[in-house]
Amino acid sequence: MTLFLMITVFAVVVINIFTLWGSWQHNQKVREDDARNLSVSLAKQAEDAFLQVDITLADAVRQLSLNGLEYASTPVFAYQLKEQQGKLRQLHGLFIYDAQGRWLATSGNYAPAKGSNADRDYFVWHRTHDDSRVRIGRVIRSRSTGDLVIPVSLRLNDATGNFAGVALATVKVDYFRQFYSYYTLGERDVLGLILADTSVLYIRPFPDTAINKSLSSSPLFTTVLKTSSSGSATWRSALDGVERVYGYARLEQYPLIVTAGYDLDKIHEDWFAANIIDVLLNLILLVMISGMGMVVLRQVKKNVKNQLELTQIRDELTTINHTLQSLALIDGLTGLANRRQFDAMLDQILKRSQKSGEPVSLIMIDIDFFKRYNDTYGHVAGDSCLQRVSTILKEMTQRQDAVVARYGGEEFAIILPFTGKNDAKKVAERAVNAVLAARIPHESSGLPEHVVTLSAGYSSLISDGHPDEAQRLRQQADKALYEAKNKGRNRVHVLI
Ligand code: GH3
Ligand code: MG
Ligand code: MG
Repeated sequence: MTLFLMITVFAVVVINIFTLWGSWQHNQKVREDDARNLSVSLAKQAEDAFLQVDITLADAVRQLSLNGLEYASTPVFAYQLKEQQGKLRQLHGLFIYDAQGRWLATSGNYAPAKGSNADRDYFVWHRTHDDSRVRIGRVIRSRSTGDLVIPVSLRLNDATGNFAGVALATVKVDYFRQFYSYYTLGERDVLGLILADTSVLYIRPFPDTAINKSLSSSPLFTTVLKTSSSGSATWRSALDGVERVYGYARLEQYPLIVTAGYDLDKIHEDWFAANIIDVLLNLILLVMISGMGMVVLRQVKKNVKNQLELTQIRDELTTINHTLQSLALIDGLTGLANRRQFDAMLDQILKRSQKSGEPVSLIMIDIDFFKRYNDTYGHVAGDSCLQRVSTILKEMTQRQDAVVARYGGEEFAIILPFTGKNDAKKVAERAVNAVLAARIPHESSGLPEHVVTLSAGYSSLISDGHPDEAQRLRQQADKALYEAKNKGRNRVHVLI
């Protein structure tokens, strides 16, 4: 029972740990999948945003290469730029610079403050790199509006292929800020747009001071991106040191990376909050099972103890019963069979005789002048005398199957199975002689010996199953005893 209880408790604990572990794994997996899916869809969104800008920019460059760079200064072209800008929400502005960095055209309504953008990073790059692909640069603050913008630029070539200037589109950082704000995320969950050179373009929920920070020390660049262009992993942020489950995706067409990261502590907290009720309920259940088990165990122990006690009592009662049974068959004073046993034994022995055809003899014995003995020596001495005579009778019989009984008062009876008259006579005479030989003083005896003497009568029969034969046997022996008394006592008699 204790073992069963322990196994049950152990099983419940193991199952709970197993379930919790499973739920933890599942939770982690779901978060990883979420992060990866989110980063992939944000990458797609970023790709579309930059592709639209790219197409717009390429279109402007194509027009300039068709119509010559002078076309850039025409109101028609300026109008076109303005119109294009209006179509794209992410677009902050479109600009055309000549080989010296002077503003040729802009989609804005403002006049350039400085006149030359030759110092800008993108300008220097295009002047020194003969690369016709679009270039996305680090975030800069717009000289025209003061906004934070991402420069997207293309090199302009003249007819001979020499550097002729730069076509620039600026993409609003606010566009991503707003877009990323649509997502309901935790306080420390991040969404980030990062340039392939490791610098941050925009990352929520960090302040703008994080923009242009290098993430070169982040595991994203040191290990993760080296093995796959999209996926999920857990790492500690290079910006704030918080550990997150990240999804990441590199854009196919542009040197950009998008990451979505879920705060690991928050994931733990959420998981804990979702499971604590279950855990508590299970613990309560466990305590209840153990409690109930212990109550049952105690009850079982108690029952077993009661059972043992009952068994003991039953054994004691059985012993008492046996004693009582034997007491009911034995004479208390002399230890001989009592009258009840005598009757039962006589019936039984007669039945045996009927079966075997062998004779049964009965000797009836009476102490002579016993009343006088009592009168002379007192009742207590009388009792002792009865005990002595009993012992003598028992000892002189010398047969296992003989029944020596106290028939009543100072009368005794001996049943002798398988015994005929001759042998019965011998036994009777031996009894009389044995008591005489014991020479128990009896001064008031009417006989000259002045010792305790017996008179005996006997009779025999072979049973024929007649119901009265026990009585007949008794009566005949009794009659013979009466005759022995009459004839002077201290003798044996038989009816002829
Ligand atoms: P008889 O020779 O004719 O047999 O004379 P008796 O005195 O022996 O016969 P009686 O029947 O007159 O007296 C029997 C006496 O046995 C009477 C009674 O006091 C005594 N007696 C019977 N049972 C007991 C007993 O258990 N203890 C004692 N001490 N005496 C007993
Ligand atoms: Mg008598
Ligand atoms: Mg007598």
